[in-house]
Amino acid sequence: MTEIKTLTIAELKTALTDMGEKPFRAGQIFKWLHQPVESFDEMTDLSKDLRAKLAQRFVLTVPVIERKQVSKVDGTVKYLWRMQGGDCVESVLMRYKHGNTVCVSTQVGCRMGCVFCASGLFGLKRNLSAGEILDEVLFMQKDSGEPVHNIVLMGTGEPLDNYENVVKFLHLVSSEGGVNIGQRHISLSTSGIADKIEMLAKEKLQITLSISLHAPDNDSRSAMMPVNRSFPIERLIASTNAYFDTTGRRVSYEYAMARGVSDRPWQAEQLAKLLRGRPAHVNLIPLNEVAESALKPSTRESVRKFQEILEKHGIAATVRRKLGPDIDAACGQLRRRQLENEGTK
Ligand code: SAH
Ligand code: SF4
Repeated sequence: MTEIKTLTIAELKTALTDMGEKPFRAGQIFKWLHQPVESFDEMTDLSKDLRAKLAQRFVLTVPVIERKQVSKVDGTVKYLWRMQGGDCVESVLMRYKHGNTVCVSTQVGCRMGCVFCASGLFGLKRNLSAGEILDEVLFMQKDSGEPVHNIVLMGTGEPLDNYENVVKFLHLVSSEGGVNIGQRHISLSTSGIADKIEMLAKEKLQITLSISLHAPDNDSRSAMMPVNRSFPIERLIASTNAYFDTTGRRVSYEYAMARGVSDRPWQAEQLAKLLRGRPAHVNLIPLNEVAESALKPSTRESVRKFQEILEKHGIAATVRRKLGPDIDAACGQLRRRQLENEGTK
């Protein structure tokens, strides 16, 4: 059975027509689907008959909270959802002065194998559907009772390895009549699947593309991120340049600083050289320590030095403030703990 939340208004219209129903109901149903309803019976302005028909034909996905951690320091909330079918995924709600940002997962696990990342430790289990990604947003709004202003696709999973569903999600969540979050308020973070970045550029979305670069030279980057062996840095940067040239959107670069591995001054020089020519923004993040990895976070002093070198070359660089420091288990840690408890590995 089709998951009804994966449908656009146009697709809902077609489905309704096929069912012998009035297509104008699509807008009404779409509106309900973008609220955290748990059953078709909550859609009280539809006839009982139509609700029953929908329930027969479609699945309405409803995630439940398996675990929740709230930071006592800044109110950041980390959710572990149990999706229908039993898989667990994480999302995070961050409260900033300029509004609430949610960080959502796009896959159950990840197969990219970055050595510093807890999300990839158990490989990829499955892709999330567009509706399930939307559910993370809807049910965080429901639980917190607060609106969401910004979305980052930075939870577990490689969004561009789940291309079709992620692009569908981006269209759904930014549609009028639904959650309606402007594409300029959405960032997609990728480990750098260059051919998919080129595809994404052609979708002409207004989202911010964020590249997890983490090292400016192929030797260091390949040692940290296996994807670099398929798409080396030159190819990656060519694709991000194409993204900017097609969309006009400045690209962001995430740079997790690992002591003695990616934080040396010559690497800052090389990074500046690499990003020359197109508007770019670098987020420097001290690496989160993951038990399975030997990589250690850089010292505050070397982060500051690195930032100075970038700025000297005219590259905008900010050091990311860490939210929820008391609940911070690096990305993917909650799900990891859950899997270990369940003994599923
Ligand atoms: N798969 C996508 C998006 C999810 S990962 C990607 O890799 O971009 C979200 C971000 O967290 C990425 O920038 C990733 O590199 C970063 N990350 C993962 N583990 C980390 C760690 N231990 N310390 C710092 N950043 C980490
Ligand atoms: Fe996957 Fe991103 Fe983690 Fe790499 S950093 S393993 S791409 S989730």
